[in-house]
Amino acid sequence: MSTPHKTVIKNYESEIRRYLDTLPSKFRSHYENATLKLKGRKSAVTAKCLDCVNYENAANRIRECETIRCPLWRFRPYQVKQNRYQETAESFLEETFDHSTLEAK
Ligand code: SF4
Repeated sequence: MSTPHKTVIKNYESEIRRYLDTLPSKFRSHYENATLKLKGRKSAVTAKCLDCVNYENAANRIRECETIRCPLWRFRPYQVKQNRYQETAESFLEETFDHSTLEAK
């Protein structure tokens, strides 16, 4: 009898290909690179971010992503070259805390 983990490994390629077929064609290469072609973390982050925004208006939504608690946030694709982390973190802090008391709003 095989363990669940061995079953997952055995079904990996067919599972990946089944999911790949459901993705919008213009974004398939990112997912394929990250999974079947094993191209590395950058492809994996891009594929995950695309999935996260459901492939809709993807570049803008990922660039403007404000989910700074996401562990992929610093590595997401489509960022503009500026200190976006600082800008978003400051915006988050302004919205969350009353600076006169340093208490959550
Ligand atoms: S960085 Fe943003 S877009 Fe990418 S996975 Fe995290 S929350 Fe989603």
